[in-house]
Amino acid sequence: MATPMRKPRIVILGAGYAGAYCAQKLERLISPDEAEITLIDRQNYFIIYPLLVEAGTGSLEPRHTVVSIRSFIRRAEFKMLRVERIEAAAGRVVCRLEESGQRMDIEYDHLVIALGSVTRMPPVPGLKEHGLEMKSLADAVGLRDRAIRMLETAAATPDPAERKSLLHLVVIGANFTGAEVAGEMEAFLRGAVRQYPSLSRDDVTVTLVERSPRILGALEAELADYATMKMRRRGIDVRLNESVSAIDERGVTLASGPRLEARTVVWAAGIEPPPVLAVSGLPRDERGYLVCARDLRVQGFDNIWGIGDCAVNTDAAGRPYPATAQHGVREGIHAARNIACILRGRPTTPCDIVSQGSLAALGCRTGVASIFGVKISGFAAWWLWRTVYLMKMPGLARKIRIAMDWTLELLFRREYVQLGVHKPKGDAGR
Ligand SMILES: Cc1cc2nc3c(=O)[nH]c(=O)nc-3n(C[C@H](O)[C@H](O)[C@H](O)COP(=O)(O)OP(=O)(O)OC[C@H]3O[C@@H](n4cnc5c(N)ncnc54)[C@H](O)[C@@H]3O)c2cc1C
Repeated sequence: MATPMRKPRIVILGAGYAGAYCAQKLERLISPDEAEITLIDRQNYFIIYPLLVEAGTGSLEPRHTVVSIRSFIRRAEFKMLRVERIEAAAGRVVCRLEESGQRMDIEYDHLVIALGSVTRMPPVPGLKEHGLEMKSLADAVGLRDRAIRMLETAAATPDPAERKSLLHLVVIGANFTGAEVAGEMEAFLRGAVRQYPSLSRDDVTVTLVERSPRILGALEAELADYATMKMRRRGIDVRLNESVSAIDERGVTLASGPRLEARTVVWAAGIEPPPVLAVSGLPRDERGYLVCARDLRVQGFDNIWGIGDCAVNTDAAGRPYPATAQHGVREGIHAARNIACILRGRPTTPCDIVSQGSLAALGCRTGVASIFGVKISGFAAWWLWRTVYLMKMPGLARKIRIAMDWTLELLFRREYVQLGVHKPKGDAGR
């Protein structure tokens, strides 16, 4: 009796924007008889990153900014595993079950690598110990918890200089993440001090440090200048052409010499590829990102695809696409189409993406946006930001939950309570 032919197996590593949308598109394009789809991630949800800062400041319930992978996909098999190594010559991926430490080898016919990025941590003294990241739900809620702890400590501190240091937030790096953290956290702290009779608006300082001559490098200069002007008017100290030479538990030393006394330092100065790529033996550029052909296949491989933040994918002129959610989603969908083409013996097509634009919320119901070349700023941009993200949210239930969160936030006063994520060292909770 002839053995039935094994179905091709498509394995997707990383269920973030790029990987999850790739799996969803494959489910729609490929019948169950054509191929098996396996999606692997170390966590069973993906984060709506553009809403992460709002989850941190309390405008949104943190749970509403994550999407359950199991409810996002229908037919694909999901495995919660940590990817440790890719063995391209053997056609397999080495993974580990984090709970038990058990090794699991997964074989593939097509491999889609969508492992995202990690925060770039250059060797700045004190950065690893004292710099906070903004890359996970725990980071967002932890920053809020820390801010509230600083408010409570400042409220009980009689020394004015110490109070100012406790309520000084320094954000390093002023692209989308940094600018949004600075803008939203300034609005958060300013709102909070109204509930503390012993504190005043003057006790709060937010400093935004950017190495280049302007903030929001991904946006047009005109919009970035508007954002800088708005932030400065609100009292945010925007320092351009500046960087940080050291961070310690009481503040930062700027490269130009001055010292800023600040108990909270957020590091938002860039991303780098996930470490697992370094042990994959696949072609990478000088920064470590996967080098891909125009159809999204990793250079030199017929059956390995690189999408999202971890890969360098370029337009027809050779310009790399930016590391954004918008590009990750569209690369994921395009990779799915090309894999379907290959399974059906058809040629692949290059991935051409025309950017729909960029949006940034800056707190205090203001923002900046550039949509299909049209520049918008102020309240209209903030309103557009919320509308666009609400429309793009997967699932009706999530849309309603987020719309409710935003409505309730307009109607009721915020409450400033810690969620217990930030614990000072030595506090075992007893
Ligand atoms: C705070 C913040 C705000 C942002 N705001 C915007 C914005 O306003 N607009 C915009 O377009 N973009 C924004 N971005 C960027 C955007 O979120 C990313 O470009 C997008 O998430 C990239 O998608 P991805 O699928 O490549 O990576 P991710 O979404 O990061 O997904 C990668 C997945 O891989 C998994 N993974 C990684 N390593 C392993 C491993 N070893 N084993 C198993 N699983 C692993 C991770 O758990 C994750 O689920 C923001 C990013 C941040 C951090």
